[in-house]
Amino acid sequence: MQHSEALFKQAETLMPGGVNSPVRTFGSVGGTPLFMERGEGAFVTDADGVSYLDFCGSWGPLVLGHRYPEVQAAVEDVVSRGWTFGTPVKEEVALAALVVEKLRCVDMVRFVNSGTEAVMSTLRLARGFTGRDHVLKFSGCYHGHVDCLLVEAGSGLATFGTASSAGVPADFARLTATMPLDDLSGLEQLFVEMGDKLAAVIIEGVPANNGLLIQTSEYVTKLRELCTAHGCLLVFDEVLSGFRMPEVMAYEHYGVTPDLVVLGKVIGGGMPVGAYGGRRDIMQHVSPLGSVYQAGTLSGNPVAMAAGYATLKAYFETDVPTRIEVLGNHLETGVNKVLADVPGLGFVRLGSLFWFYFGRSEAPRSAANIDGSGAAIFARLHRFMLNEGMYLAPSSYEVGFLNTAMTEANLDTFIAALAKAKKEGMFL
Ligand code: PMP
Repeated sequence: MQHSEALFKQAETLMPGGVNSPVRTFGSVGGTPLFMERGEGAFVTDADGVSYLDFCGSWGPLVLGHRYPEVQAAVEDVVSRGWTFGTPVKEEVALAALVVEKLRCVDMVRFVNSGTEAVMSTLRLARGFTGRDHVLKFSGCYHGHVDCLLVEAGSGLATFGTASSAGVPADFARLTATMPLDDLSGLEQLFVEMGDKLAAVIIEGVPANNGLLIQTSEYVTKLRELCTAHGCLLVFDEVLSGFRMPEVMAYEHYGVTPDLVVLGKVIGGGMPVGAYGGRRDIMQHVSPLGSVYQAGTLSGNPVAMAAGYATLKAYFETDVPTRIEVLGNHLETGVNKVLADVPGLGFVRLGSLFWFYFGRSEAPRSAANIDGSGAAIFARLHRFMLNEGMYLAPSSYEVGFLNTAMTEANLDTFIAALAKAKKEGMFL
């Protein structure tokens, strides 16, 4: 802790909260954030030389674990030739071709530098394409810090958003309607009231930024039908869910076809990359082909593109979804055994994503059904697991990530640590 604590003290004087992204502060679990210095496969090592089994994986990109040899080699190869030119490069063509080949819903793709940027550009495109201004999002879904999506629901249906961050003009928030997830009749009612005004409905492929709120196929299919009937675009934000599902993408998991898909995290292999893609007739509205402007100095830079390409190539060639399912089942079986006699603590998993929920017998499907009082138990558990060498994301609302560098034996150490936590009364 010593070195991390000293670094954090200095960081706090230099950067707001000492961090460059808020949840890194350990604000909701207490204590000092750990400064990581090395990654190797399934493990990270902090500034004090302590190693942890890493269930955060840089918040999702590292589906192959840290420093996967082919990814590292691809990055080193590019860097040895120069790392940015501001011209087209072959690496972006290679990654685009792979994305278009593998993703049924993507005819054309545009690369940007973050998930936020990709979402922002997607909504501009949806608005430019439809000529409409309003969008609908769901409470509990996070789509990056795009102004018009930093809104929360008021009560009732078709609520016009109020900003959940200072600095978002009320006029921006006004264009965003918000609905609870998993409310079919509410959704139908909303479309009656304002479906024809909506440029887009944006939903996280599988909502996983506020717990893991797995939707039913019935609900998502109905959402698709309503969008089609009202000429509004269905946008799947798969920044987090993409390449994390047994079926690769969440839209395949539900069996629906979105009009536009937002990508990030895994497609950059740990480099700063976002992307959006979808139907050709829509994507042709993006500049320079069309009138929806969007650009970027470092977009499609060869280092990020090479890391993403090497990651996706290995992902498909080594059949990551199948391996993850084996690992996931192993974890799930072991954890459920430990939690069988712990009332009020549940475990839900889909593909390589998992989450602990509190106070319910069934995993919640909407933000309103999350029992927030579990946060105090999670804070204790988080600290306990750190001491056991397990690095979980520092919030009860964040999911855990599995990667293929993990082994069954690694997961057994996690299960054993959880059993020890139970024995020591962490869940009481
Ligand atoms: N959309 C989703 C679903 C996300 O999970 C995230 C990041 N967690 C974003 C958008 C924003 O991505 P970024 O942090 O790269 O801007």
